[in-house]
Amino acid sequence: MRRFPKGRSSSGLPIPERVYSFLVEHTPERIGDDCIAKRTETTTEEIAPLTATLGLTTDFEQTQGTCRLCKLRTLVTRSLRYV
Ligand SMILES: [Zn+2]
Repeated sequence: MRRFPKGRSSSGLPIPERVYSFLVEHTPERIGDDCIAKRTETTTEEIAPLTATLGLTTDFEQTQGTCRLCKLRTLVTRSLRYV
């Protein structure tokens, strides 16, 4: 498993790595694309295809729900790993 010390910026990583790590770190919270983009220093356009793809895997799910961070109802993704 990859390790990122808390507080360290992971912005040097490729975008898929950042999105993946962000979601796993926030297991099992549901988070919208907007907030993932903000926290990973990317854009919604860049991460939408990534979260959609992750949502198809058994480790993640993507549904309509309430974002844990901004409390808006939107398309949210969450990690199901290490629950
Ligand atoms: Zn949000």
